[in-house]
Amino acid sequence: MEQINSEKIDVKSLTLEELKQEFAAIGEKAFRAGQVYDWMHVKLAESFEQMSNLSKIQRENFSNRYTYTVLQTVAVQESQIDGTRKFLFALADGNVVESVWMKYKHGNSVCISSQVGCRMGCRFCASTLDGLERNLTPSEMLEQIYSIIRITGERVSNVVVMGTGEPMDNFDNLLRFIKLLTDENGLNISQRNLTVSTCGLVPKMRELADRKLQITLALSLHATTDEKRRELMPIANKYSIKELMEVCQYYFEKTGRRITFEYSLVAGVNDTDEDAMQLSALAKPLCCHVNLIPVNPIKERDYVQPDSKQAQAFKNKLEKNRINVTIRREMGRDIDGACGQLRHKTIQGLPMETGRK
Ligand code: SAH
Repeated sequence: MEQINSEKIDVKSLTLEELKQEFAAIGEKAFRAGQVYDWMHVKLAESFEQMSNLSKIQRENFSNRYTYTVLQTVAVQESQIDGTRKFLFALADGNVVESVWMKYKHGNSVCISSQVGCRMGCRFCASTLDGLERNLTPSEMLEQIYSIIRITGERVSNVVVMGTGEPMDNFDNLLRFIKLLTDENGLNISQRNLTVSTCGLVPKMRELADRKLQITLALSLHATTDEKRRELMPIANKYSIKELMEVCQYYFEKTGRRITFEYSLVAGVNDTDEDAMQLSALAKPLCCHVNLIPVNPIKERDYVQPDSKQAQAFKNKLEKNRINVTIRREMGRDIDGACGQLRHKTIQGLPMETGRK
């Protein structure tokens, strides 16, 4: 596990078992570990100071001994259209990450970042414009959710790892994050309510399949030929669509979980009849769901969305081929919707409108 501060243990990234061992090593009683774990992951305490059933000396001792990850809220934007809120959080080292809170009828959903920046270089994505700064620790991933729960005062039922970063490029921390998030002694989010999205790092997808988790794996496909995919996503130079389809099949066999294909529709680039046909052919043999996302234009690139009629026509073509398909409802259009735009604007020193909290 990566630690920001190598001398101190990042206590919120430890499993309950590890915390028990750690406490045993420093002469604390085992039940203390349960208490502290509960304060961190259920009561969502913001410091040891708040842990009122610990003695003052213990609180001080723990505060000195451990890194206790919390995030500072730098900006909040709220959509006037649908209430979606976008948060910009500062980490202890001053880096910033963004997270999104979405309200749906079936429950609230949080979209988190897995890295500070990204090195995958997808052409249409704002998250990668400034490159990769560093991986997020498990506690920093968790804290995005915990902070949002504290701020909104509402429960979260779904988590999607679809913010900035490539989760498979931060694999060990991602696995630990999943373990902590879905732990019955913690927030206890069901694995089935967690989606991890990847641009397609095949060996890591295979490794994830072998873990046999019940999470949803989403593959950012975005093109139906290797040639076209390479134009949009540098990672396509490393792994072919054939390899991707094989590993998706493997994931389904190992976990029984339906894969999601994400497909950003870019006008004139990947929205032709032929694309619809080829996408159907790829989706057909797999147990999968296709999620069409009209590309969110970023000013650094000149990609444009197909109009809604065109997008609907593309969807209809897939449906005719009996593919399970949806067009993603756009949330927070008015608040720098596209991945990584808010962070990019902030670190470039560009003006941003901060909505009401
Ligand atoms: N790195 C992961 C997760 C982050 S992005 C991945 O690649 O899957 C979440 C999804 O949004 C991905 O499918 C990504 O390709 C897509 N995306 C990024 N920028 C976009 C944009 N400007 N418009 C539409 N979709 C975008």
